[in-house]
Formats: sequence, structure tokens, C-alpha cells
Amino acid sequence: MNRKTLIAAVLGLALLAAVPLFTSNSYYIHMVGTIMIYAILLYGLDIVVGYTGQVSLGHAGLFGVGSYTAGVLFMKLGAPLWLIIPASIAVTAIFGALLALPALRVTGPYLAMVTLAFGTIIQILINEMTFLTEGPLGIKIPKPSIAGYQLDEHGFYWLVFALMVISLVVVDRILRSQLGRAFEALRGSPVASDCMGVSVYRYKVYAFVISAGFAGLAGCLYAYSEQYISPNTYNFELTVLFLLAVIMGGRKTRSGALLGAAIIVILPKLLDDLELFRIVSTALATLITVGAVVGVMRKITTPTAMAIPVVGTIALAGFSFWLESITDWRLSIFGLMILFVVYYLQNGIVGFVRALFHVRKSAPEMISSTDDGKDAIVVAASAGAAETGGDLLIAQGVLMQFGGLKAINQVDLRIKRGTIHGLIGPNGSGKSTMMNVLTGIYVPTGGSINFAGRSVVGRTSSDIALSGIARTFQNVQLFGEMTALQNVQVGLHHTFDSNIVDVALHTPRYRREEKAAIERGLGLLRFVGLGDLASEEARNLPYGKQRLLEIARALALDPQLLLLDEPAAGLTAPDIKELVTIIRKIRDHGITVILIEHHMDVVMSMCDTVSVLDFGQKIAEGKPADVQADEKVIEAYLGGTAA
Ligand code: ADP
Ligand code: MG
Repeated sequence: MNRKTLIAAVLGLALLAAVPLFTSNSYYIHMVGTIMIYAILLYGLDIVVGYTGQVSLGHAGLFGVGSYTAGVLFMKLGAPLWLIIPASIAVTAIFGALLALPALRVTGPYLAMVTLAFGTIIQILINEMTFLTEGPLGIKIPKPSIAGYQLDEHGFYWLVFALMVISLVVVDRILRSQLGRAFEALRGSPVASDCMGVSVYRYKVYAFVISAGFAGLAGCLYAYSEQYISPNTYNFELTVLFLLAVIMGGRKTRSGALLGAAIIVILPKLLDDLELFRIVSTALATLITVGAVVGVMRKITTPTAMAIPVVGTIALAGFSFWLESITDWRLSIFGLMILFVVYYLQNGIVGFVRALFHVRKSAPEMISSTDDGKDAIVVAASAGAAETGGDLLIAQGVLMQFGGLKAINQVDLRIKRGTIHGLIGPNGSGKSTMMNVLTGIYVPTGGSINFAGRSVVGRTSSDIALSGIARTFQNVQLFGEMTALQNVQVGLHHTFDSNIVDVALHTPRYRREEKAAIERGLGLLRFVGLGDLASEEARNLPYGKQRLLEIARALALDPQLLLLDEPAAGLTAPDIKELVTIIRKIRDHGITVILIEHHMDVVMSMCDTVSVLDFGQKIAEGKPADVQADEKVIEAYLGGTAA
């Protein structure tokens, strides 16, 4: 976070803390308190929705679990606040793990349905388990007391404020740490996450559990805030509202969560009051019109793009004066406004404002750190692979069948340590499939694969990656929304021992590991010639650089074996030359390389051994020159589609 944002954040929070000093109207104090409680939940929901990219319609249910844990503990045991808060968090976190289970199997609309069902079941359970929850009657719960001191409206406001700020700091720290990067990587490319040793399975569960913890805290505070809870609060409408708050405020921002919370609390109230609605809609129409005119004059936007928003908001303002009573219309207006935001501001309001002012992601402070030991950083990677000679990988009789198609048919491969092993063949001959089998993306139908003395077959991709096989992908699989440095840091995930407590408290261990990861990440970027692009988002890099970034990220894994799937495809001639130099350097550091490549000159000049696949079978193997002269190889290439 840079200094300006920090100052703005502190000022904003100070203002928020001072709200009870400005007004003694408990209606407003309660309203702002509710916004902060929702914000706590939204911080958590954003982890799941914004970062890992999963949909959750189960968060109202989790919110209810938090509330009812507090309610039941108070009603049945008269438990004090200091016990109820951690209990609510813990119980809800367990429910979060349950909610994560479907997310491991399905995504997209299916996940939305399943999580919705989860929320509904929770609501039904609360309703039916009268012996625990009093069912539809609900539970009364007074404002808590701390150390014998009974909190009044103001005291409780400040308690909520303090917990909101703590949540804000903790969430922010989690999301900036290796954990947050792991969550974000899941969204960018699950396959690549797994192949970087970041288990998709594990981090999806973590994301839901942590997210649920915050929902639990929010639910617990909500119970105290309302002083009465009943099952029908935690319904479908609330869960949709939560999701909309994240989308409207803007995902992946904490200020967006606060803003989103404010919108979903204030907007419905605003629509209750016709006078207020008229004022706001007129102001909105003026703002949008002026904004559009300025935007068009400055050529940021076009008249056609702005036509609908301008006409829409003016129509809304006109409509507000035509209306005589708002009650019948409020839901429709609410829905329209939401549609508008979702459609026109896809990055939410905060994202839109950021784009307007060209606010870039803050780069790590140490970004221009030492330039020493350029290559030493990579050497550390291969310490274990120093002894050359001997086989690093032995695959025997590998068979990979897709239905009736044998994509790989009884292939044997022996990869010698410290060599560059070429894998060539016409399109569709099974080269990429071989890589997918070696990295655990596919489990082979038959055969054995041994890597550094251990079988690979049946192990997960992340496990295989951590044991020393790194790879790049034929279709680049970067984490697009993350910076180049963050991409490499995902590869460095395995260098972290710190857990969520270290991350939340910024313990010396975490600081040390994060600092090392930044330095090594920058070193690796320099190694592939991307030192200057560390804080550029991966999706904005030119194609050739993206391929190089993938290599840097793979090297971060400290691999013994590096699999490169057509690294030169789509590269310009100078880029290819640079690539060849880099691959040579990698080999010189003792890392064994398997290279799939169509550029014959690259293959012939670099490889120690070449294996040729055709229709899933190995048809030749040997030194590059011998293979090139082999009749079967010539026929495969000339007979099939030319490479
Ligand atoms: P190459 O990388 O050598 O161009 P691939 O390994 O990508 O070839 O593909 C080999 C064959 O396997 C192709 O016929 C392809 O259609 C098939 N194949 C690859 N993956 C799958 C899959 N997941 N399901 C079905 N067929 C597949
Ligand atoms: Mg391929």
C-alpha cells in the first residue's frame, strides 16, 4: 500500500470511528454499525468470489450459523462475549469446510445452485431444530458486556468498529501473502496452480473456511446488534444482496467491500423516501451527464457508449418526479440500478474509479533491490540435481487412452540427468499428452513412471510438482490478473513455512520468507530478462514475454526436471535466440530439460537426445543428427501434416 492510500484509509476509518460523536440518533448509529458488520462478511466473501473466482450463494447461511452460534450459546449457557466470538468463528468455519466440498467437484452455475441449496438447508435447519434454536420464535440476546461493563449503543458501535478494523487488517494481510496469491492463482489457472505445487483442492477449502470465519464473526455481531434473531433473516434475498455488494463495490478491494455494504444497507432505505430518491436521482443524472460530456471531450469514451447511461439516468430522474408513491416501485428500481452497475461497471464502483484515475497496483517496496548474484538465485534451485549421469526419469510402457483413442501407446522414455531431451512429432502425436501424464494431470491407463526413484502414477499434480517436476504449457497458463512478480512468487509458494497466524501477525518468520520470495522472484525475472516488468500484470505482457514468464515461474519451483511444451511457438526470431540462450543456461545449472518443439533448428542445436512420437508411438530415438536422418521420421513428418 502506498502512502497516499494509507493516509486516506486511516482518515476514512477515523471518520467512521467518530460517527457516534456526530449524532446521538441511534437509528443512524445502528445503520452504520450494520454496514460495518456486513463489511466484515464481505471481506470474507470477496476471498471466495473475488480471489478464487468461485460463486457462493451460501453466505447468508453461514451468516446465520454465526448468529445462531452466538444466540444459542448465550441462551443455553449464558456464555460471555469473549467465548461467543471465537466460538461463532470456529463453528461457522467448520460449516465453511462443508460448503467447500461441492466447490471441489463443480464450478460456475452448478456451484451457485449447490451453495444456494446449502443456504436453504441451513435456514430450514434453524427453523426446525426448535430444541436448540427456538425455531420461528427466534432468540433474544442483549447487548454484550465486557469485563463486567455493559456496552451501550455507543460502546457496541466501537466494539464493532474495532473488530471491523482488525478484520480489515487481517484480510488484507492474508490476501497480500502467499495465501492470497494461492487463492488468486486458482482463479487465474487451476491447472497451473496445481503444477506450481499450490494444491487447488487444499486452497479452495482454505478459502471457504477463512471466508466462513469472517461470516461467523459478522453473524455473531449481527445477533448482538439486532438483539433478536429469527430464521427468516438469513434468506435468499440476503445472500443475493451480499453477492451484489461484492460485485457493485468491486471485487478484490477492501474499500469496495465497505462501499458495497453501505449500498446494500442504505439503498433500500433511500428508496423508502420519495423526496430523498428525487434528490439522489437528479444528482446522479447530473453527475453522469457531466461525466459523459467531459469523457467524450477528453476522448476517454465515445458518445455511443455513454448514450444509454445518460438517457437512463435522466429518465430515472424524470420518473422520480412523475411518481406519487415509491413503495410499489422500489424493488424494480433497486433491481434496475443493480443491473446498471453490474452491466456498466464490471469491476465495480471502486474498480471504475481506479481506472478513471489510472491507479496501478502497488508494487512491493523492495522492487528495485540488489542486482547481485543474478544467476546464483537459480543455482540454489538445482543443488539436489548436481550429480549428472544416471536416469532421472524412467517411463515404461506408458499407455494413455481417451475412449478408443490411444493418445500414447506403449511409450518408453529414459531421461538422463543434466541433459536436454527433445520430444518431437507431428501435431496430435501425443507430445503434450505425455507431459500431462508426467505431471499428473492425466493418470495413465497403463505403464509405470519413475521420477528420482519414486513412482509418479496416481499422485496429484501439486505433489509431483513439489517433488521436482516443473512445466510450462503449450497454451500459456499464466495468472493473468497477477503481476509478473506475483506469478513467479506463486512458484515460490513452497518456500513458505508460515501459516495464517504468521501472516496475520506479520511475524519475523513471515517477513523473512516474504522478503526472500520477493528477492528470488526478482532474480528469476532478471534471469529470463523480465526484470523491468516485475509489476506489470501478466495478461498485459506481449506473447513472447508471457512464455518467458512461464519459464521463470516454473524455475521458482526449484525443479530437477523442467518440461517445456513448445516454448518457441509464436515467438519472433530474436525472441527464439534469447530463449535458446536461457534454456542452455538452465541446463548448465544442472536442471534436466524435456523440450517439445517444432522448430527443428532449435531442437537439433540444443538437444542431447531426441525421441520422436507418431500417432502415440515412439518411432525413433537417438542423437539429433541420427534421428533427423531416420527414414521413419522423415516419412512421419512428410506423410503427416508438415510441422
Ligand atoms: P501433440 O501435443 O503432440 O500435438 P496431443 O498430446 O495434444 O498432441 O494430442 C494427442 C491426441 O490425443 C490428439 O488426437 C488429441 O485430440 C488427443 N487428446 C488429447 N487430450 C485429450 C483429452 N483430454 N480427451 C480426448 N482426447 C485427447
Ligand atoms: Mg501439443
